[in-house]
Amino acid sequence: MSHSDASIAARVRHVEALLEERGLVDAQELDRALEAFLANAKPANGKRIVARAWADTGFKARLLENANTAIEEIGLSMGGGLQQQTLKVVENTPEVHNVIVCTLCSCYPIALLGPSPAWYKSPAYRSRVVRDPRGVLAEFGFDPEGEIAVWDASAETRYLVLPRRPAATEGWDEQRLAEAVTRNGLIGTAPV
Ligand code: FE
Repeated sequence: MSHSDASIAARVRHVEALLEERGLVDAQELDRALEAFLANAKPANGKRIVARAWADTGFKARLLENANTAIEEIGLSMGGGLQQQTLKVVENTPEVHNVIVCTLCSCYPIALLGPSPAWYKSPAYRSRVVRDPRGVLAEFGFDPEGEIAVWDASAETRYLVLPRRPAATEGWDEQRLAEAVTRNGLIGTAPV
């Protein structure tokens, strides 16, 4: 049941109504929770994940194995409360470059990247990146090495690209590494 954002929204409203009926939450509380979620949802989170993975091979292995639990180690989560989305981190290598898209709507790891850019939601990007990923990346001024793998996000599963660490960053601390990462690098439409 991927891409069933509408039905999930309906289920969430149903659960909210039940909780309110039982006096467990009120609408204002839900609004505050949503505001807190959005205030903390920013690309800096995704950048921290990548910097830690570059600096710590053990963390990187755990991240690729189970991203939802690994990101808790640095105080992050996919948020969202009632139903946590599965996060999959896909690693760029010299052989494979990864790009993320949602072909049917605009599923995106908001908790880790903030709200998605307009082009990510555009019908042109969503349809063309699957058919002609290299052509689309060329329009971003980017021609990655190797094959291009396109990952189609859904209501339940979100992706984050782990870019390759630039050679020139040897000896950098995590703070500096995080600053070298770009939002589009985490979507796969730019080098780091
Ligand atoms: Fe979607």
